[in-house]
Amino acid sequence: MIPASVSPASVLQLDRVSRQFALNVPPAVSSVSLSLPTGELLALLGPSGCGKTTLLRLIAGFETPQSGTIEIANQTVAGAGKWLPPEKRSVGMVFQDYALFPHLTVQQNVAFGLQNHAKPTELVQQRVKESIALVGLEGMEQRFPHQLSGGQQQRVALARALAPYPSLVLLDEPLSNLDIQVRLRLRQELRDILKTAGTTAIFVTHDQEEALSIADRVAVMRQGHLEQIGTPEELYREPTSRFVAEFVTQANFLTAQRQGQVWQTAIGLIPLTQTISADSSDITAIDRAALMIRQEDVQIQLHPQGDWIIRDRQFLGREYRYSLQTVSGETLIVRTAADAPFAIGSAVKAEVIPGLLCGFAIAPAKP
Ligand code: ADP
Ligand code: MG
Repeated sequence: MIPASVSPASVLQLDRVSRQFALNVPPAVSSVSLSLPTGELLALLGPSGCGKTTLLRLIAGFETPQSGTIEIANQTVAGAGKWLPPEKRSVGMVFQDYALFPHLTVQQNVAFGLQNHAKPTELVQQRVKESIALVGLEGMEQRFPHQLSGGQQQRVALARALAPYPSLVLLDEPLSNLDIQVRLRLRQELRDILKTAGTTAIFVTHDQEEALSIADRVAVMRQGHLEQIGTPEELYREPTSRFVAEFVTQANFLTAQRQGQVWQTAIGLIPLTQTISADSSDITAIDRAALMIRQEDVQIQLHPQGDWIIRDRQFLGREYRYSLQTVSGETLIVRTAADAPFAIGSAVKAEVIPGLLCGFAIAPAKP
């Protein structure tokens, strides 16, 4: 761990960074500003094509921003007339496809980035040993990449990135090529390894569960810009846009019409006091809105006159996930810890759990 007294408060500072590849297409990265405190693990989350890789490449120095500045460890590395090439930025990278040298052993792969530094061999050997131990690959030093599983290869890539004590580690979808069991195990281990090393890191993913489960903060990207940045809890509880809510929490959105102190919706009346507005504006000034209703905030009951019909049911272990539909075609996804499942085709009543602060009014409603 780097002692707090010598580490800068912020390892990475982006100020309105933009990169446009061609004049007739929108910028791949558009005016992105963010500050990354020492030791933080930030997930960069967004759909494919939203600019995540381009942003990492700008930080690493494989792309040049058209405007804006990038500072790493209090040194300007791009923008304001300055430029530092990738090898001088103290940034380690881990890629989706591992990018190991196939003809080098585990030990030689990990040592690769250290040998340029004209360090005494014993120091390099020592650091290689430590890095291999950190990622749990002792005993595999002499193996070649093709003699390792995908998960083990990704550990080698991580050890190689961490070995030179970089200021910052960038991981571009490091778990996406692994099968589900390995991915779930390695994501927790990845967090533990980065925390043990005291490393500041940005972790790119398009998987919201992965982002929420391992990151200290999550930055949601959309079409090149940062849509929202916050802790997993903040994003989950208070998304500031419908995009974040749908992408991060997979919440339902219902059209709501305000009638005095209540919202009229397809699941009945919801008191205004049970909702807040996404941009903190006065909720009583909104007449029509899209209300965010989380899958777990609805309760359902079998009822012959119920408005909702169960169209589909999935067993998720501890709970069931139901797809409901009204006669007029409105849909609702509900998760409940029902002991006994309701049959597909049943009529049910659905209501928001009373008293819960559930709704998140986003105005105006999408047509
Ligand atoms: P993500 O990693 O989120 O999937 P990318 O950063 O790879 O997104 O891409 C963002 C956008 O920039 C996409 O529209 C992509 O086609 C475009 N793009 C990325 N790299 C280049 C390049 N070298 N030349 C032209 N367009 C590019
Ligand atoms: Mg990418």
